[in-house]
Amino acid sequence: MMNKIDYLRISLIDKCNFRCQYCMPEGSELDYLLQQELLTNREIITLIQELFIPLGFTKFRLTGGEPLLRPGLAELVREIANLPQTRDLAMTTNGFLLAKMARSLYDAGLRRINISLDSLNPETFDRIIGNRGRSRWQQTWEGITAAHQVGFDPLKLNIVIIPGVNDSEILDLAALTIERNWHVRFIEFMPIGNSELFSERAWIPSEDLRSQIRDRWGLSESQVTGNGPADIFQIPDAKGTLGFISQMSECFCDRCNRVRLSADGWLRPCLLNETGQIDLKTALRQGTSLDKLQEQVRQLILLKPEINFKQRESGTNTGTYTRTMSQIGG
Ligand code: SAM
Ligand code: SF4
Repeated sequence: MMNKIDYLRISLIDKCNFRCQYCMPEGSELDYLLQQELLTNREIITLIQELFIPLGFTKFRLTGGEPLLRPGLAELVREIANLPQTRDLAMTTNGFLLAKMARSLYDAGLRRINISLDSLNPETFDRIIGNRGRSRWQQTWEGITAAHQVGFDPLKLNIVIIPGVNDSEILDLAALTIERNWHVRFIEFMPIGNSELFSERAWIPSEDLRSQIRDRWGLSESQVTGNGPADIFQIPDAKGTLGFISQMSECFCDRCNRVRLSADGWLRPCLLNETGQIDLKTALRQGTSLDKLQEQVRQLILLKPEINFKQRESGTNTGTYTRTMSQIGG
């Protein structure tokens, strides 16, 4: 049976205040989009309301680049949250600016947030995010605790493990779930953005992480099941859960329920495959009728299983990809 495609990930900006080694290799900032190339808030709302909602989309995630750098963010959140058809609105952020913004985002109607935190060690953290100045770990941690205090639930932490960089912290990161109702999600490192680092360091299969955690505390499949790509587990009696996103070791293309809208308005049916992309921004600005665009998007969604199938056949871990996660909207 065909998956219901009802989840749109919207990249609000390609700029970022971090330079994570695996996402934004040095020099990638040179290709930043110009302000006028970004979709405006009005265009985003028009696309959601007139195109995606009529096609059955009800779940939206705001991402980037770093979404907290987008001017007018709280207003945009409010407008999307207030649409009667919105069933779920979430955001993925690096958390650096979150301590100041958590309250206004919550008040605007955002309830779910994922924050990326690859290390509990400030030095390792700064190394991963490419920071050579004053450490940015503490302010990021304050962003996470502010989100917790304001009431974001579930609060998820996204972690990419890079061999030889932060793999010694797998147990410490997993232990965050023991006393806190947080969801710690380990994402396998993908060869997007920095294929050089990837070929040097490669990736660790989720099962290896699970076996370390299992040996230390035991691990069971959680009763809580997500509707996304993560396999959810739990340390016995822990308050939170552990998620594993294993797109390298276990292709989950057949469970994929999402499409992506880049900050410059390209609709992309698959993270790893550029087949069939549609330039919605140019079409909108040239006055293409929304009915016509809706038909094009409907066709693209119908094609998605075939695009996913080709991706599955070619294998995630055999390709290298030209656009970085910050450009696509990870
Ligand atoms: N800046 C925000 C953040 O870091 O959370 C949102 C955008 S970021 C591109 C979204 C997610 O993609 C982050 O959790 C990041 O760790 C992940 N990511 C980026 N590059 C990746 C790669 N090569 N492999 C696996 N995950 C990656
Ligand atoms: Fe920025 Fe997020 Fe990419 Fe890190 S992963 S460089 S925080 S967009």
